[in-house]
Amino acid sequence: MQTISSISLAGGQGKTTVVLFLARFLAQQGHTVLVVDADPQSSLTTFLGFQVEPDSPTLLEVLKREVNPSDGIYETKYPNLFLIPSDDALDKVQDYLAGSGTGALTLKRRLKTVESLFHYCIVDAPPQRSQICLTVIGASDGLVIPVEASVKGLQSLIRTLELLGELKQEDEEFGGQILGIVPFRDRWVGLRRTNESQSNIESMQQITTDWFGQDLVLPSIRESEKFKQAINKGLTLHEMGQEDLAYPIEVLATAIEKLEGQKK
Ligand code: ATP
Ligand code: MG
Repeated sequence: MQTISSISLAGGQGKTTVVLFLARFLAQQGHTVLVVDADPQSSLTTFLGFQVEPDSPTLLEVLKREVNPSDGIYETKYPNLFLIPSDDALDKVQDYLAGSGTGALTLKRRLKTVESLFHYCIVDAPPQRSQICLTVIGASDGLVIPVEASVKGLQSLIRTLELLGELKQEDEEFGGQILGIVPFRDRWVGLRRTNESQSNIESMQQITTDWFGQDLVLPSIRESEKFKQAINKGLTLHEMGQEDLAYPIEVLATAIEKLEGQKK
């Protein structure tokens, strides 16, 4: 099982959107996919149309070892796609992770017992630099960093890269690979990208080049109501007839397959 997480240290950067469409795309390609909603806001659980029943286990109980990981995994209404859901109670796990000493490895250890059941595990991270965020990073073979094509987005990118840099230095708690930066809400008017999007995406290219010696910016997610419509209707972009908009998701899926090839 390859574990890929979507992380970016600000709200509204496209983390959940990337997880949703990537996971559904991989599942439609015939892979067995586990998605983990690691955000107490539980947008991913909602986007998947999943309702957490009272007293049924969620990621909280899985992380706290109150249940076996397999007891926290549910079928979704989509073939090949399984979910460890969350609700706002997940926030309570912060103290548990902080107190455990090896909190950054908790999710990785819990997922180990189910790794033979899935090809891919895709994790949706919360927007804050929290204990949950650290355990998500610690579980990841690869990271996707969605970044809004805005000044707020650039700040989120820098904060995220700083955090990853610190973790690498500290304890090698992130030994995985950054698959790339996905610009989010890239605005175009007709056949032209807006100046604002253009300049922000160029800044992302510059930042990753300064940081890593290579441009890690992947094809962007366009600003489009079609994404919201697809989310609301429970459809993929392909099912909406929006093949062009799905291109960045396909490129990501290919990057993940390549990462898997390198690991073998
Ligand atoms: P949070 O940090 O709050 O969890 P996030 O980084 O997960 O946010 P998303 O929830 O994926 O961000 O996206 C933010 C909002 O943008 C959502 O309400 C979503 O419906 C909307 N959205 C998704 N795709 C697009 C798009 N291509 N263009 C415009 N808006 C979009
Ligand atoms: Mg989200």
